[in-house]
Amino acid sequence: MKAQPEASHFVDGRYLEDAAGAEIEVIFPATGEVIARLHEATPAVIEAALASAARAQAEWGRMRPVERSRILRRAADMIRDRNEALSLLETLDTGKPLQETTVADWPSGADALEFFAGLAPSVTGETIPLGQDFVYTLREPLGVCVGIGAWNYPSQIACWKAAPALALGNAMVFKPSEVTPLGALKLAEILIEAGLPAGLFNVVQGRGAVGGALVTDPRVAKVSLTGSVPTGRKVYAAAAEGVRHVTMELGGKSPLVIFDDADLESAVGAAMLGNFYSAGQVCSNGTRVFVQRGLKDRFLKRLAERSEAIRMGDPLDPETQMGPLVSQAQLDKVLGYIGKAKAEGARLVCGGEASVSPGCYVQPTVFADVTDGMTLACEEVFGPVMAVLDFDTEEEVIARANGTDFGLAAGVFTADLARGHRVVAQLQAGTCWINAYNLTPVESPFGGSKMSGVGRENGKAAIEHYTQVKSVYVGMGPVDAPY
Ligand code: NAD
Repeated sequence: MKAQPEASHFVDGRYLEDAAGAEIEVIFPATGEVIARLHEATPAVIEAALASAARAQAEWGRMRPVERSRILRRAADMIRDRNEALSLLETLDTGKPLQETTVADWPSGADALEFFAGLAPSVTGETIPLGQDFVYTLREPLGVCVGIGAWNYPSQIACWKAAPALALGNAMVFKPSEVTPLGALKLAEILIEAGLPAGLFNVVQGRGAVGGALVTDPRVAKVSLTGSVPTGRKVYAAAAEGVRHVTMELGGKSPLVIFDDADLESAVGAAMLGNFYSAGQVCSNGTRVFVQRGLKDRFLKRLAERSEAIRMGDPLDPETQMGPLVSQAQLDKVLGYIGKAKAEGARLVCGGEASVSPGCYVQPTVFADVTDGMTLACEEVFGPVMAVLDFDTEEEVIARANGTDFGLAAGVFTADLARGHRVVAQLQAGTCWINAYNLTPVESPFGGSKMSGVGRENGKAAIEHYTQVKSVYVGMGPVDAPY
């Protein structure tokens, strides 16, 4: 299976190659096969991308919003028309099963393009009366934005950053993760075909150093990163040198709190979705599942039955429910966490082994009797490994759920809706669910608190993060100077 793109980068409306850049091998993690070979961006490629973005943005930012929107809506339609082929590529790039990529990845990217296309023409300023004089405000684009992506949802991440940036009059230079570099190139192709002027959405490939070069360029007004907390710290600090705007979508160790009055099947299903979807490689996963003691035994029994029935295998088979992890490095990391959990005394309920050789597979794994201090309860694993912790009271579980530096997401399951709202009000997380988990529609703001990030993607909240306000004071009478 080959998925070699025409060239490594997409700059100023066309594919661009510079073989002087270090090689990036793109691997299908279900087989280990190399499906494409790309090159990292050289300084010349980075320069071309930033220069064309700066040039194109000047005109794009002045265009009528409805005209910009029309192009983005067309791109959304094209993505939906081509969903099958795009999802196949996403599966090859990430190893996620077709059963997921056809409904979750590009479709949610199309939603973002459609949503921000619809929103942009109604983004206006305000008028502030001051007696005779008045102030009006304008919401202006920021300019050239840099997007840097993680490998777990590569095409969704590219769309979630490009859509608000472009709709609101900015240009974007996007660097996908070096692990999954293919989808963003397709987005660039589609946007050009939909009528986007050249230079407004450029894709450059590379590892951290290429991202670093983009973040510190004086032409860049904003940086939006999706990645881990350690990378977020570095990128935030680098962006601060130039006082740039930032959005940081970082990691988590989110709590999912299940009270003993919860609907058992829904709670088990949500815990599985929030730990096993995309083989657990989801930032907002509820990886600390707190189960009230009265429900514990029934919960673990159903969880084990349903987890053991998950169909693992070839992600290209439409019947497959769970594919491999994205890479050998990720597999090694996840197996390391499983080993540590066993060594620290957590009780293995099911799974726990690498499986379906060759390929980077690990079984859906559940540990019970996990306590707050264990590594499994503290660090982000990013694999299909669920930690189940016991609790007795509402007050206790809120304190323990908040006992982490992360604050990305949280969920509560209970039949008592008043309790659901009361608990969520006290949880320190940017995105919360009551009797649901991991649903992230584009209409809803998404992002983290504490170390999990700053800024919000999606929803109307994203407008704040891709525009800036200009205030214009209008004097209507003579100027009264005291000298
Ligand atoms: P990562 O932090 O290793 O890399 C993220 C991106 O940053 C990559 O494109 C990488 O090349 C780039 N990068 C690395 N060092 C850089 C530097 N010094 N300057 C600029 N760019 C640099 O993350 P990953 O392993 O690709 O993804 C997994 C992580 O992403 C997890 O922690 C996960 O929770 C997080 N994530 C968060 C969200 C969210 O929306 N909050 C969504 C998906 C993933």
